[in-house]
Amino acid sequence: MISTISIRTHNRSEMIDITSMVSERLQQAGLQEGVCHIYVQHTTAGITINEGADPSVAADIQTMLDTLVPWEGPYRHLEGNAAAHIKSSIMGSSVAVLVESGRLKLGTWQAIFFCEFDGPRSRKVYIKFQ
Ligand code: ZN
Repeated sequence: MISTISIRTHNRSEMIDITSMVSERLQQAGLQEGVCHIYVQHTTAGITINEGADPSVAADIQTMLDTLVPWEGPYRHLEGNAAAHIKSSIMGSSVAVLVESGRLKLGTWQAIFFCEFDGPRSRKVYIKFQ
């Protein structure tokens, strides 16, 4: 079974900590040992794991992504959101987290982030426990 998390984003670029929502789904699934796959079907959003304790880290990531991939550029994609597509590929569309003793085996400072790059939009994150 695939579990879905619906997210409403509010800015063009945004990193949203979804760790507690994923943990909640894990509790519901009751899996003790295995793998949690977290995946997005979107081409202008992504999923990543990074520090969740200090919000400056997510802010710095967004700032540097904007520096590396500016919104206005010599892009060919006519829709006007080429930067969002590129950032999506940089961050990737999935992560896998090990599950041990019924808990996500994340490091002390790690959090799972949904990354919006062409918001605001309604988005979906899919979770599969195996
Ligand atoms: Zn596009």
